[in-house]
Amino acid sequence: MQIEEVPALRPAGEQILIEVRAVGVNPVDTYIRSGSYPIKKELPFTPGFDAAGVVLEIGQMAGPFRPSQHVYTSGSVSGTYAQQALCLPKHVHPLPDNVSFEEGAALGIPYGTAWRALFQRAQAVSGQWVLIHGASGGVGIAAVQLAAAAGLQVIGTAGTEEGRQLVLEQGAQYAFDHNDPAHFEKILDLTGGVDIVLEMLANVNLDRDMEIMAKGGRLVIIGSRGRIEIDPRKAMSKELNIHGLMLMNASPEESYEIYTGIEKALLQGKIKPVIASRLPLKEAPKAHRQILESAHLGKIILLP
Ligand code: NAP
Repeated sequence: MQIEEVPALRPAGEQILIEVRAVGVNPVDTYIRSGSYPIKKELPFTPGFDAAGVVLEIGQMAGPFRPSQHVYTSGSVSGTYAQQALCLPKHVHPLPDNVSFEEGAALGIPYGTAWRALFQRAQAVSGQWVLIHGASGGVGIAAVQLAAAAGLQVIGTAGTEEGRQLVLEQGAQYAFDHNDPAHFEKILDLTGGVDIVLEMLANVNLDRDMEIMAKGGRLVIIGSRGRIEIDPRKAMSKELNIHGLMLMNASPEESYEIYTGIEKALLQGKIKPVIASRLPLKEAPKAHRQILESAHLGKIILLP
């Protein structure tokens, strides 16, 4: 990736032109850049879905947004690793006054995914046990905060002591080390079986997750980076429900529910993104290397 000067963008139709103040880096940006994702882009292209900034201009069709409004995005027509981004109305969400641009850039995909996993795929209900398997990253911290705010009993995992401390600070009651094979037994002893698992690395954990789930439990596969052999009997005997999740599959009605729910939680101060590090936009290659390494605590943000 390299910085290039291009002509200023102009919105067409219902597009919204945003002056980007902060960009959220997501793992999917690296998969698309490297060509290992089903979405294939023709080169050259500008990466990025998540950003926060100020509305500059709106295309011909008037929508709910107005110039100078603070917004965040969960998608973009032109890509958000830039000073300007063109977005469709479905990609753009109002940024409340109590949320900074950096925090706003950390919302779109991570909080959208965590919301969909908890409330649309797993049908989480107050009082249930939820294991957030990989709780120290962008989606994991969002899920811990949303689950705690909804009254669930939250267990999070992280690979470092600092990560586990952060997970506890964000609202988890218990934190375990996902690199310690004994954490599965410890969680089973603690809970007698978890009702919900949000899984960030299914190719490592899926088989053993099923051993520590309660009868009728719901497991949501959010992340996976390879294949795994599982014993299907573990799912049969407990009548487990294993759900895939792809945020981009949310219907317009589901997206509305997700992003109005996030806005309400932001306004009530129930959620607050955690920023791991800030880098200038020209260091996007470094950000892509960092996000694939474990143990960044929260979100990596690029500043154009
Ligand atoms: P991230 O910020 O890089 O966080 C990765 C998380 O995975 C960290 O908490 C990390 O913990 C944890 N992890 C590392 N080894 C693990 C293990 N053995 N078991 C469980 N967790 C482990 O990434 P993210 O933005 O949160 O995204 C997480 C995953 O979900 C990625 O694979 C991403 O591609 C995927 N995702 C999917 C969707 C979708 O629509 N399906 C949407 C968003 C994200 P430590 O660093 O503490 O070890």
